[in-house]
Amino acid sequence: FTIKTVHMEGTTLQIPFSYFSREKIIEQMKSNPYDLLIIGGGITGAGIALDAASRGMNVALVEMQDFAAGTSSRSTKLVHGGLRYLKQLQVGLVAEVGKERAIVYENGPHVTTPEWMLLPFYKEGTFGKWSTSLGLKVYDFLAGVKKSERRKMLSREEALKKEPLLKKAGLLGGGYYVEYRTDDARLTIEVMKKAAEKGAHIVNYTKAVQFLYQDKKMIGVVCEDVLTKQKFHIKAKTIVNATGPWVDEVRNKDYSKNNKRLQLTKGVHIVIDQTKFPLKQAVYFDTPDGRMVFAIPRDGKAYVGTTDTFYSDDPIRPYITEEDREYLLKAIDFMFPDVGVHEEDIESSWAGVRPLIYEEGKDPSEISRKDEIWESDSGLITIAGGKLTGYRKMAENVVDLVVKRFAKEGRNFGSCRTKTLPISGGDIGGSYKFESFIAKAADQAVSYRFTKEEGKQLARLYGSNVETVFSYGQQFEQLKECPLPRILYARLMYAIEHEMVVKPVDFFIRRTGAVYFHIHMVETWKEPVLQWMAQHYGWDENEMEQYRKELDDEIQKARFSV
Ligand code: FAD
Repeated sequence: FTIKTVHMEGTTLQIPFSYFSREKIIEQMKSNPYDLLIIGGGITGAGIALDAASRGMNVALVEMQDFAAGTSSRSTKLVHGGLRYLKQLQVGLVAEVGKERAIVYENGPHVTTPEWMLLPFYKEGTFGKWSTSLGLKVYDFLAGVKKSERRKMLSREEALKKEPLLKKAGLLGGGYYVEYRTDDARLTIEVMKKAAEKGAHIVNYTKAVQFLYQDKKMIGVVCEDVLTKQKFHIKAKTIVNATGPWVDEVRNKDYSKNNKRLQLTKGVHIVIDQTKFPLKQAVYFDTPDGRMVFAIPRDGKAYVGTTDTFYSDDPIRPYITEEDREYLLKAIDFMFPDVGVHEEDIESSWAGVRPLIYEEGKDPSEISRKDEIWESDSGLITIAGGKLTGYRKMAENVVDLVVKRFAKEGRNFGSCRTKTLPISGGDIGGSYKFESFIAKAADQAVSYRFTKEEGKQLARLYGSNVETVFSYGQQFEQLKECPLPRILYARLMYAIEHEMVVKPVDFFIRRTGAVYFHIHMVETWKEPVLQWMAQHYGWDENEMEQYRKELDDEIQKARFSV
């Protein structure tokens, strides 16, 4: 696992999926003509890389930031069918993404967890008892939900037992149904690692800056290594633009805009410690202005979101405004009036932009989340819109199109194989074995001098890759001096040597989610991590200062102090 198989003429070379392989990977990219080159390393690009590589295509992927640094680390972190789309009668979308939930879970039970969601209904609320009951029944039916996870209807007392903090006035009861909680950035990296294992050549911090053409057909891309500023060419028979909020910018480089365009909308989330907001149960609830938001317990915190407002700034660093923060605090106050959460209780936050397809005259929340594939005269394929949840199916549709193109040349790559393909870390023999896998890993952890609790925690995070993570516990023993605790050392080294971490922000935001959910831990350990990475990567004082500043900026932004 996490090992890249590089196909050179007649030989197979193993390259770790690590920063230290960058040069080798880029060398390969310069010399290999690819069947498929993907621009964009969010969940959409990762999914396409895995689908294509697993069908036997020669695949490359470039990401201009870190993997998932765009929208794919900034979502509500749910693999869900989108109950509210049912209200908009988008039956097809609900059926398709709803069914995908179980597949995404089965292929990676370490990054996706079933989560019972409470949908309270009130005397004057959007949903009544019957509409909730019927809506959830249709939802379960469309998504093909298994019997044990079908919706239950709760009385007022039962709903309050599940979540005593709910507003009591007018409460009639609740719908209780299953969604799936995920870590969007870790889901992306696990898909990416699996694609690399299947032979895809993948690199982060590499930007596609220009297209190459022959007879008006696209034959490659000029890339810039963002770290060294060096430019190089990648040649490919097919090129896919999977750049999420940037798809129009990339299409502009091809002068290939059709009559469709993106409409970005921004969504923010806030994180509050459970000592201030002791939420027990995930709740999906009405806001005073008739929208719906989630409140979800996770890792001793509760996070709440999202907003949905038009966005026209640079998608690179969306940020939270005071208005966004007020909106979410009001929403919490509206549904959990006894909690009394204030501005100073917000521990962390994040903002993301949705790459939606423009629809005339629609409000942000009304715009469809569906995906579309656009083909330009030059041959560029663009995938726009969509959701994290539907990434595998979106990838299948894109790669089917690529396969059709190859079929015209007499090359056959067959049909999609990802439906039952575990992603990296998902090789545990089926989701039903997950708990027994965790128990075994806890025992095993002890022989690497981790506690059983640490073993469980690591196994839940890294799934079947956990033994490699454990092995750094042994390595830790041999170090003369290390400023980090054993478990942090193991996670950091695994991220460095198997997950292509380049900068401290990559580790603290996208490989661990710590800036969002354990910001105190980041503040405690940022300097030792920085020192350790500097030693490992050979950074000088200037580079260290630059990475320190970058991390501090992210922490301040998450904390609203900028
Ligand atoms: P991105 O993740 O943005 O990836 C595109 C990548 O392309 C970026 O990393 C970018 O750096 C890179 N790139 C751009 N230009 C170039 C270039 N020239 N060269 C190289 N790389 C380039 N979906 C769900 O299923 N469940 C949810 O709970 C959910 N909640 C959401 C909440 C919010 C607030 C938002 C904003 C979205 C939510 N979504 C959710 C939607 C989901 O997050 C997105 O649909 C998905 O992450 C988009 O992934 P992507 O790969 O298409 O885009």
